[in-house]
Amino acid sequence: MPSVSARRSLHWFARSLAHAGVTLHPERIIAIASTVKLKDGTIAVTSAARARTVLRHEHGHALDLLLAASGSPAFVAAHAKESLDLAAWTGRNLPPGVEDDILYFLQKGASGRQETFAELFAERFGGGTATLINVAEAMPQTRETVRAIMDDLSQKGGR
Ligand SMILES: [Zn+2]
Repeated sequence: MPSVSARRSLHWFARSLAHAGVTLHPERIIAIASTVKLKDGTIAVTSAARARTVLRHEHGHALDLLLAASGSPAFVAAHAKESLDLAAWTGRNLPPGVEDDILYFLQKGASGRQETFAELFAERFGGGTATLINVAEAMPQTRETVRAIMDDLSQKGGR
């Protein structure tokens, strides 16, 4: 039985409509929404392809919650540097939605780092949730820190 806080989080997730996935730690629960509300207000059924990207992204969050990888000095430094590069693209009359995708990974505090780690993990294993930008291409040094963390984990016997 999930804890009270996990049940609250799942209740929030079920009601939010806008969120595609959630990861609960330490309950070891990843939930994928069967439907999501799009920016135009319509409700879309989550396709199998979309569910796979969300699952990879949420799996990245789960691993990050276990390892605190997005708080490692190398990741923090790389993300801080490349966030500035990425931020320089905002305010340039980009195609619709692109700036929202960028800003998702530039959120203040730990949130931006956590979202970036989850996305880079997802992209490493087949594709992330962002549809208009490729974070792995936009943040190569940060991507390398994720690769190093995954290589280190593999050498320790992780599967
Ligand atoms: Zn996320």
